[in-house]
Amino acid sequence: MSLNKWIILLIVFAFSSCGNKKTTSPISTQEIPEPTQSIIRYPKNIILMIGDGMGIAQITASMYLNRKGSYLEQFPVVGLQKTFSGDNVITDSAASATAIACGVKTYNNAIGVDMDTLRVQSILEIAEQNGLATGIIVTAPVTHATPASFISHASRRQSMEEIALGFMETKIDFLVGGGKKYFDRRESDERNLYQELKDDGYYVNDYFKKDIFDTYINPKKNFVFFTGDENPPRAKNGRKYLPYISSKGATFLKKRNEKGFFLMIEGSQIDWGGHQNDASWLISEMDDFNTAIGRILKFAKKEQETLVIVTADHECGGFSINNGSTKDELVTAFTNNGHTADMVPVFAFGPQAELFHGIYDNTAIFEKMKQALQFE
Ligand code: MG
Ligand code: ZN
Repeated sequence: MSLNKWIILLIVFAFSSCGNKKTTSPISTQEIPEPTQSIIRYPKNIILMIGDGMGIAQITASMYLNRKGSYLEQFPVVGLQKTFSGDNVITDSAASATAIACGVKTYNNAIGVDMDTLRVQSILEIAEQNGLATGIIVTAPVTHATPASFISHASRRQSMEEIALGFMETKIDFLVGGGKKYFDRRESDERNLYQELKDDGYYVNDYFKKDIFDTYINPKKNFVFFTGDENPPRAKNGRKYLPYISSKGATFLKKRNEKGFFLMIEGSQIDWGGHQNDASWLISEMDDFNTAIGRILKFAKKEQETLVIVTADHECGGFSINNGSTKDELVTAFTNNGHTADMVPVFAFGPQAELFHGIYDNTAIFEKMKQALQFE
């Protein structure tokens, strides 16, 4: 049938339906369709963002000081998690990351192992087993407690070279952070893991040779970039890569695998500002992390198939905003230079976000992520 005839038919139909309108009665109640059953939607991807040491006061301070507020205000679901570890009311970052990553309460210092130092599988490892792409982006060494608990298994968090070996066991697709020396100048063995990854077909580069902003990120190859020999610089000293590489990493992982991906992003140094009782370090790291959250939200809003979870591993510093503060100038204080047992918030956006409301143990985050990705 020619296009002209279609147009004529459409015009005739349009007129006839106009005519019908005058003669038929209004739609009776019987004709109103049954409400369609709500379809349960599951995410293809999870992006888990951990602000190390990011308590409510840390979030509040950066929200007030930033005229645009916090991107966390855009999350529809908020919950609270209990951070106590297997052997202490005050957790460290190793036990809390192991709880979130692997679903077990363990002793402070434990990396991906339980109370008996037995290996426990992480959500990243399970995601890889199920054929998903995986990624880790941090502003600490990649062997530091938080990222380590997602991919390594060690009885002590201090064993950085042993922890680096975990990255050789799971073929991570996208990895950005410091700690280069635990790969290429190892003391415990003669291995050069930097070279081994290259030999294995990975793209591997580092801050010493290349600016990460000028690096072409080819989704055909596993991507590894070291942003420091040990610690990457502080945000207030010019480190800027976290927001940029967070959105690059999400786009990379989406292209990398049709089945989906799991990505963990850590604002690692919020905690370090807390330990030092350095409010300006803490706030600048919060702002950097907030910008990264904004980039990830933008990605997730466009894709509609990504569950974004933002939480902390614990509070640090007993930070508070005190009398005499204005919204432009806060009077802040710390009660100590270590972690506290305060509950920390969990924010969720996207399919299955509703799983994250309420008050629960940090280990439940692992179960909820598994449930959202429909893993057994
Ligand atoms: Mg950490
Ligand atoms: Zn800490």
